Amino acid sequence: MTAERSGERYAIRVDTHCHTYASFHAMCSLSDVVNLGKKRGLQAVAITDHHPSIDTPDRSSHMRGPDFAYFHVLCDRFENLDEEIEVLKGIELNILDHEPWLSEISHPVFDQLDLRLAGVHVLDHLFRRSDKNSISKSTEAILNAMHCGSSRPFEIMSHPIIHGVCFDHQSVIRAAKERGIALELNNSLFPNERTRRKARHDPDQLRCFFEKVAEEGAYIAVGSDAHVPNEVGRFDAATAFLWEMDFPERLIINRSLADLQDFCRKTRGQG
Ligand SMILES: [Zn+2]
Ligand SMILES: [Zn+2]
Repeated sequence: MTAERSGERYAIRVDTHCHTYASFHAMCSLSDVVNLGKKRGLQAVAITDHHPSIDTPDRSSHMRGPDFAYFHVLCDRFENLDEEIEVLKGIELNILDHEPWLSEISHPVFDQLDLRLAGVHVLDHLFRRSDKNSISKSTEAILNAMHCGSSRPFEIMSHPIIHGVCFDHQSVIRAAKERGIALELNNSLFPNERTRRKARHDPDQLRCFFEKVAEEGAYIAVGSDAHVPNEVGRFDAATAFLWEMDFPERLIINRSLADLQDFCRKTRGQG
């Protein structure tokens, strides 16, 4: 690593995307997320379990989700007792390819959340796989989700670039900027030799997308999308990508908790 690269330029101090056992297919407890976040020098971690609608209609099949009661307990009863790190209470919503375009968020418990992410999850009941022939349909769905309600419906679009989803980059980036939504650079979609994980995005597409993001001056969040404890606060592949791109660091919303809070405060409630 060069001296230049060891600097603070891309140091990320808040993990805006962590899952726990509540998401069923994740393997972290709340304590794992807090402890690993602290160990990795973070100022805050966000608990962002999947919205209940991730649950496949047939429960015997491959995806289960937490229930509303879980979010109720998280919001009403969980108190972080660790003074060295903040815990943000969040959720990862689903962008839908049909009305109402976004997971149901009118439940009163969701008003208490600190952070809302929303992403496309390619599952038949949520968002069907899209390709070059269905670009306009999937673009429309994402734009509709971003425009749900009079104020912005979520702060971060999780993993915009992921296998199986094609959309018009420019339109989505412009809408995100206009609505005050940050676009996520997701560390878990990069390949990992240690665990033999394969890339879950097309590298060229990813590069093109974030070059456009920089050009348009839209905001990004760097998230681990941790589903296991070792992933909490890990941004190695994402930050290497930012270095390669020479991405403008002023557009990153989670280099500090103060930056993130500022981003959430500034545009929340603005149309
Ligand atoms: Zn998940
Ligand atoms: Zn996701």
